[in-house]
Amino acid sequence: MSKVIIDLSIAGGKAAVGLAEQELTRAIESKGEAQKVEFPDTAFYFPVSYALFGLEVKTLGDAKKAVALAKGKIEGIPITDPGLGDALSAGTATLISAEVIAGLRYLYGTEPQNGCEGFFSDTILRTLGIQLVDGRLPGFAAILGAAPDNKAAVALVRDYQQHNVLMFVGGETNGRSIIDQLIEEKVELGWDNYIVPFGRDTVSAIYPINWAIRGAMTFGGVKPGNAEKCLEYTKNRVLAVVNTLGAVDALKVAAGAGALTLGFPIIADTEVPEVGELIVKELDHRKIVQRSVELRGIKSKIAKVDAPVAVSAAFEGERVRREQTRVEFGGKYSKAFEWLITKTMAEVEDGRVEVIGPDVDTVPEGTALPLGIVVEVAGRKMLPEFEPILERQIHHFLSFAMGVFHMGQRNMIWVRISKDTYAAGFRLVHFGKILHAMMLDHFPALVDKVQVKIITNLQEVEKLSVLANKAYDERDRRIAGLTDDKVDLFYSCTLCQSYAPNHVCVITPEKLGLCGAYNWLDGKAAYEINPKGMNQPINKGSQLDTVKGEWSGVNEFVFNASNKTLERFCNYGIMEFPTTSCGCFECVIAILPECNGVMIVNRGYTGMTPVGMTFTQLAGSVGGGAQTPGFLGVGKLYITSKKFLVPEGGLHRIVWMTKELKDALDGRLRERANEIGDPGFIDKIADESVTTDITALVEYLQKNGHPALKMASII
Ligand code: SF4
Ligand code: ZN
Repeated sequence: MSKVIIDLSIAGGKAAVGLAEQELTRAIESKGEAQKVEFPDTAFYFPVSYALFGLEVKTLGDAKKAVALAKGKIEGIPITDPGLGDALSAGTATLISAEVIAGLRYLYGTEPQNGCEGFFSDTILRTLGIQLVDGRLPGFAAILGAAPDNKAAVALVRDYQQHNVLMFVGGETNGRSIIDQLIEEKVELGWDNYIVPFGRDTVSAIYPINWAIRGAMTFGGVKPGNAEKCLEYTKNRVLAVVNTLGAVDALKVAAGAGALTLGFPIIADTEVPEVGELIVKELDHRKIVQRSVELRGIKSKIAKVDAPVAVSAAFEGERVRREQTRVEFGGKYSKAFEWLITKTMAEVEDGRVEVIGPDVDTVPEGTALPLGIVVEVAGRKMLPEFEPILERQIHHFLSFAMGVFHMGQRNMIWVRISKDTYAAGFRLVHFGKILHAMMLDHFPALVDKVQVKIITNLQEVEKLSVLANKAYDERDRRIAGLTDDKVDLFYSCTLCQSYAPNHVCVITPEKLGLCGAYNWLDGKAAYEINPKGMNQPINKGSQLDTVKGEWSGVNEFVFNASNKTLERFCNYGIMEFPTTSCGCFECVIAILPECNGVMIVNRGYTGMTPVGMTFTQLAGSVGGGAQTPGFLGVGKLYITSKKFLVPEGGLHRIVWMTKELKDALDGRLRERANEIGDPGFIDKIADESVTTDITALVEYLQKNGHPALKMASII
């Protein structure tokens, strides 16, 4: 490695450690070593320290240990003739130090920075992980600094978007950040757009790093403290690159050396000394993306779609504003619906797209046309019950087209085509071509043939929407009629075992996976699509207990799937052999013995709860794949299931839940309250606006005559 780079990394590493030490000392002086420090919504403490050393940083005192480790790395570097390994040590020291500095900023409330994401939560980690595993996300780029001009910045991110590469943007060069260049050019930022601003300085570049390293523990099953395995995982599995824009300084080089330890190469747009395939320069901005994806072996799996604009997941979140609209459909402006139906092989001519009615080039700008999208699919393994799952994808697939906006589902859709996209030659037939290509690409195991009808003739739209409405109703009846008693098979999900090795979700029609992302139909479809995957059918066997929801077949399955650690699984309760919790539950239920009931808190709620813990604190004690009587991680929709805490008495046990959760479930909760013959019940449930104090809560319940107080003892 070039001597300049080595010297700069070491100098930068020293500076970073010095800064961390200085700021930590100041924090300890004012708050003491026992002061808690944490990043929001994570079970991995300070992820770099935890992954590399197994160090659980929970207090300022613990942070001191982290800084000592960083210092040790720097002090181990020889004064004369340091080499590549020493530069990497300095890089590691820089990452540890930057993480401590960022943690302190959270303590003092100065992160996240204005308009920036800051620390990426475990929830985001998991969502992205799934996209990574299933190939939707081929890779990542961290872009640091500022481009020579705004145009170059925009061109760079557009280029990455076309490759479906998720970008983390931030840092600065001479006080200017690419974040502001993009904002000035009105580029939409955010996860949905694949452009995530982390912060406007080099220290905040730790967020993409401590996110990547959690991937090793979450998805790679690497034990905290196993640095070698961890770095091997990030190098081989996390396809990330670093792009530096503009002049580099010692701290940037040191942080870059840190990225190198994770196996992420650096492509710089300035005259840097090149180091093999680790540090590469590319002075032509138009070639940076190509160079980067080649160097890191990022292969974007972009379905070949015959359309005049780019079609990629990176455009999914983009909106089309009124002034940019050439033509729109549905919303409050016209009648529109979309409908996917299963047909026989003989009835479908693969690739056929029929446009019935006026096309977009025959109407004046700003017209709202009626729209019917009818997708007819055929496949040997296709079943009518998969229709809603495939139909739900219409939204994603059409939104993928640059300059096409799609919202809603069924007969409540709203679609817009932008002027630019229209000018590029986009017509109605392209809706059909996109849907055809994407359905085949995403569901190869289910779908063999696809044909599409795009209808803008009002009479036809009205006629067909009557049939579509009938089909929606039928589906709803079918799903509503699906109960745990009526099916023979449940489905397992073990996707989270890489993280919680003994965890199994048992997904039944009336209890969805605790992450909220998988219901019974999804489990069934996933199994059909990939019979060797993480969702397996579970033969119920004989029912051992109707109230607790215990079946012999489930027990057997869970015993084997949990590495023989769990012998009984009672699916409906919280006290006796409850289901396990990994780490991605939407909500945590905890019993409150003082109230003879339970409280429920959702992920994302940061305040205190009556059990005396925040969501993050609860998550720390509930997760990990263990059975924890009295605590339960669940998917939000389970709360309104008829099988909600049956052994404990059901809905009436809820004495407290967050306002956000109450609002989100309002209609369903009231429906359930009616069903159990207590229409006014929901208003007796307290939330944080009433109190988070257990004594005050008991008083409130007594005053309002909450039924839980008169129920059998919960413990
Ligand atoms: Fe993880 Fe359960 Fe969700 Fe599967 S269903 S992803 S195991 S939480
Ligand atoms: Zn999980």
